[in-house]
Amino acid sequence: MNQFDGIKRALEDARKVGVVGHIMPDGDCISSVLSAGLGLEKLGKEVRMIVDYEIPWYYYEFDAVERIHRAGALQNWDPDVILVLDASSPDRVGDVEEFLEKALVLVVDHHATNHAFGDFNWVDTKFGATAQMVLKLNKALGVLYDPELALYNFIGIATDTGFFRYANSDVQVFEDAAELVRLGANPNVVASTILENKKLEQLGLFCEVVHGLKIECDGLLAYSAIPWNAFEKRGLSESDAAGFVGEMRAIRGVEVAVLFSESKEGEIHVSMRSKKWFDLTETAVHFGGGGHPRAAGFTVKAGEASLAEVVESTVQYLKIRLTQRG
Ligand code: AMP
Ligand code: MN
Ligand code: MN
Repeated sequence: MNQFDGIKRALEDARKVGVVGHIMPDGDCISSVLSAGLGLEKLGKEVRMIVDYEIPWYYYEFDAVERIHRAGALQNWDPDVILVLDASSPDRVGDVEEFLEKALVLVVDHHATNHAFGDFNWVDTKFGATAQMVLKLNKALGVLYDPELALYNFIGIATDTGFFRYANSDVQVFEDAAELVRLGANPNVVASTILENKKLEQLGLFCEVVHGLKIECDGLLAYSAIPWNAFEKRGLSESDAAGFVGEMRAIRGVEVAVLFSESKEGEIHVSMRSKKWFDLTETAVHFGGGGHPRAAGFTVKAGEASLAEVVESTVQYLKIRLTQRG
């Protein structure tokens, strides 16, 4: 039995399903969890949707996001199956990791860096978004779409393709998006909620990022760092910097953009983007993270290194590889 059929069969047979996304959730993660979770509910399953991390505030404008809980919701519940979406390794599910031993684990993901940590692993890098894989799975399971489900499913396709601009925006992306629009998804609602909903403080923070921007390697590398106090003094947190690294990549001549953000606890998240040819997955994996060729990242635990040290080692590593080719 192939992986897709194994996952479909396991979901058909299951009664209680935990549907789980990754920490530091993005649009694809939230969309995939909601689409799979609400889809399975339509089939009469008992479902709990889990993202073991704070969800960026603007996503709460989509009503069903309130139904997503932290890992504690799996306590004393004993799901038959845990469906893990858009997460490349078990450390990406937060405290859900401890529940993975007790249930059948089904992994659906589009990261080349996926560790295949499930009992069944449907991992396919040709999909621009995990949300497309969920659409395919829902259709195979016979889920009937209403406009609300179509909108939730559309979110992941839109966000993981940079609203249909990135290199992963292929024919299948447009076909799946068109199908969801036909089923009632409103692209303008998705775009305005996610893109045109900035706090003024976020623009202030972006000014600081631009102010601290460094350009090296003959203009190929752009990077900037946000210390915790820059978030704190504006009442912001790390997810409020979403999109900044994309703006840095947009600079003419830049091939690789890197944004370093420090959390309240001192954890450092490194968010990387490339434009045309640099494959970031190798760098991300080298530092213990993962991702895609044009968007990848890693996280350095609090206390392991300072912000300045992480900047130094990452920039040094990238500079060597950029000069080799550039
Ligand atoms: P970000 O830069 O955080 O928006 O992430 C870009 C891509 O890299 C996404 O596909 C993430 O799933 C992946 N990624 C980011 N951080 C990590 C990490 N710590 N471990 C594995 N993958 C990551
Ligand atoms: Mn994701
Ligand atoms: Mn994704």
